[in-house]
Amino acid sequence: MAQTIKELLGLDDEMLFSNALKARKGKRPILWSPNVINSACYTVPKCRHCKWECFKKEDKMPDGRRLLDNILWQTEKIIATGAEIMLMPSGWMGYTVPDYFCTYIEKVKERFAITIYGLFGSIDLNSLLSLKQAGMEGYQCGLESPNELSYRYFRPGGDSIADRIQTMTFVKEAGLKLWSGFILAFGLSDPDIEKGIELLKSAHIDCLSIQPFVPYPHTALASESPTNPHYWARVTAAAGLCIPDCDLALSENDGAYAAFGGQTGANVRSIFLNETDLQQK
Ligand code: SF4
Repeated sequence: MAQTIKELLGLDDEMLFSNALKARKGKRPILWSPNVINSACYTVPKCRHCKWECFKKEDKMPDGRRLLDNILWQTEKIIATGAEIMLMPSGWMGYTVPDYFCTYIEKVKERFAITIYGLFGSIDLNSLLSLKQAGMEGYQCGLESPNELSYRYFRPGGDSIADRIQTMTFVKEAGLKLWSGFILAFGLSDPDIEKGIELLKSAHIDCLSIQPFVPYPHTALASESPTNPHYWARVTAAAGLCIPDCDLALSENDGAYAAFGGQTGANVRSIFLNETDLQQK
């Protein structure tokens, strides 16, 4: 069977998708759901694709640190959906996370049996060790893009690819599960994709997600075309075949991405509470 991403992307749809489904048959299905700790972000200038900036502008997301009570309330709702993993993201707060991140995680773990992944951008080893001690089991740190030019096109400020690779190393050093991937957009070539997959493979990731770019209103990239869902599904399926032992996660759960996502063999899917639920707190 073909092994390199180049060879895999040379296969026709039927062969690629049936290989992907066969290779991942038997992988346990897992649901994940987000519970935001803090929507503020120190990245300057802001990322040009930032959907949180859109949500804040449209008053669909509060700006800043959330109260612990709200986080606990949402955790209960998330558990009721059947989600096993709760992703607790924040905008970037610098390389050292604020102490209350650990307090929030501790309090969630005191009351609920749910696996927690953090998502706070590039952070240092001490922060990861403190978060682990508080009860966090895994950390999501995407490469964002394996190509420097593409990375700085949509992320003109903030941490760098090198920072992200360093954080991924720290995650494994801390004995945490590592979830990573990159955004399939902004002119990534097949060699870029190959480089990204090799990097992720050598980082011994536990969960992989290839994200499509989806434009949002009120952002600098609002007029850019979204990633073609068929192409995204092919790359996701091929990437999953290249790193067969890790879980394969989908970040989009509706529309064409959900339809094509079913062909990739992905076993980890997202579930989002609806706006009405979230507006109660
Ligand atoms: S780091 Fe995340 S939250 Fe901050 S501007 Fe970029 S995309 Fe938005």
